[in-house]
Amino acid sequence: MPTLFERIIAGDLPATIVHRDDRVTAFRDIQPRAPTHILIVPNKPIPTANDIADSDEALIGHLFTVARDLAKREGIAEDGYRLIINCNQHGGQEVYHLHVHLLGGAPLGAMVAKHS
Ligand code: 5GP
Repeated sequence: MPTLFERIIAGDLPATIVHRDDRVTAFRDIQPRAPTHILIVPNKPIPTANDIADSDEALIGHLFTVARDLAKREGIAEDGYRLIINCNQHGGQEVYHLHVHLLGGAPLGAMVAKHS
């Protein structure tokens, strides 16, 4: 079964694509948590951060240079933004196809709730 994000990357599900190249696709989150909320996704389906292989280092670096360029293009680079990768249940991961959230456009508040 292809992941939800593989279907978006293949064009089988609609999404607002903001970047596409041979390794990475980026599109707007369907339920944005900030004025800018973009998901940056490797075209090949790596399920979680635990599944990143040593040979994926350049690909993972590319996710971040695409995030950097999108932040600049969205006009949020100077004020700042947040990059998030959720992993598995405790990380709150919903879609098991690795992705970086790019969030910005307003103050985002605390990184996570305080641990008591
Ligand atoms: P996770 O919790 O796995 O880190 O984040 C998954 C993200 O995917 C969520 O922010 C959710 O809103 C987004 N999402 C889920 N389904 C879709 C979809 O069909 N289209 C788009 N563009 N985003 C989706």
